[in-house]
Amino acid sequence: MARSKILLLYTGGTIGMVKHPETGTLKAFNFDAIAEQIPELKLLDCDTECISFETPIDSSDIDPSLWVTMVDMIETQYESFDGFVILHGSDTMSYSAAALSFMCENLSKPVIFTGSQLPIGDLRTDAKENLITSIQLAALKENGQPVIQEVGLYFEYKLYRGNRTTKINAAHFEAFESLNYAPLAQSGVSLEVSKSLLLKPQKGKQPKFHKKMDQSVGVLKLFPGISPSFMRSVLFSEGLKAVVLETYGAGNAPTAPWFIAILSEAIQNDLIIVNVTQCSGGSVLMGHYEASKGLEKIQLLNGKDISTEAALAKLMYLLGSGVSKGTFKTIFETSLRGEMQ
Ligand code: ASP
Repeated sequence: MARSKILLLYTGGTIGMVKHPETGTLKAFNFDAIAEQIPELKLLDCDTECISFETPIDSSDIDPSLWVTMVDMIETQYESFDGFVILHGSDTMSYSAAALSFMCENLSKPVIFTGSQLPIGDLRTDAKENLITSIQLAALKENGQPVIQEVGLYFEYKLYRGNRTTKINAAHFEAFESLNYAPLAQSGVSLEVSKSLLLKPQKGKQPKFHKKMDQSVGVLKLFPGISPSFMRSVLFSEGLKAVVLETYGAGNAPTAPWFIAILSEAIQNDLIIVNVTQCSGGSVLMGHYEASKGLEKIQLLNGKDISTEAALAKLMYLLGSGVSKGTFKTIFETSLRGEMQ
């Protein structure tokens, strides 16, 4: 069988950074040096090619235009490679993985995000394992077809669905969690893929690459003591089309009449509001408690068990695709890429 060909895209992040010898500050270096840093790449039973962002970035500088750059790269190289590995800073990797999951529809090849907590040159680096296993997962085939046919995120021995993750730790190697969906694969002595959890492309459908992401979105996190004026300043900010409302527990919020009245006025003003829980695991259950009945009545969208990162990306994608007001709620509440139950 032909060897798999995997394309690596280096966007920036710790994995490709070096320490300034005097200041100790981490700064991105030329990606070509990554191949020199990992001679083990030559031992893989697949072929790899590397490309890099012209200016590698700290992932704090990511924005939707750079997601389009990544999607462009996948689209133009789609026929020439069997899989794609995107090296990305871990800070915003969950946002990017979620965004690309919506922007790349009907994938029949893997797109795997990875990065590291320590630079590749560091003695105790996690970069080598993360990179090498990501490439191996991207290269996995069965009956000539890639095993993984979706956007994933690999970190510290686990491959997660890309739109189900959250960065939960800035210090541990185990930096990501996907509490609402079990890992797609685990790396131990061998690679164990949980095939029943993988997304299957719909037969006969060609991949479609979407490049319009509407950024007129925001996040409002509830906290005890939130004031009417603060809520108004967010919900009525100019040009805002949709908001992720991060609620408590199973989708609960204050029952005070002023609170519901402001949300209701914003909705009448054409704002889309999605109920997403602040908890990293579990689901919104609208109407389960008295404290979410009011939200249900005023027709907040039910985010169910979606993460904030995926909810934001889905809003940008659906707004960018021009989904009509009348169908927006139904489409948002439907799982499009396995991002919600
Ligand atoms: N600040 C870095 C970034 O996200 C951290 C990392 O690479 O993990 O680009």
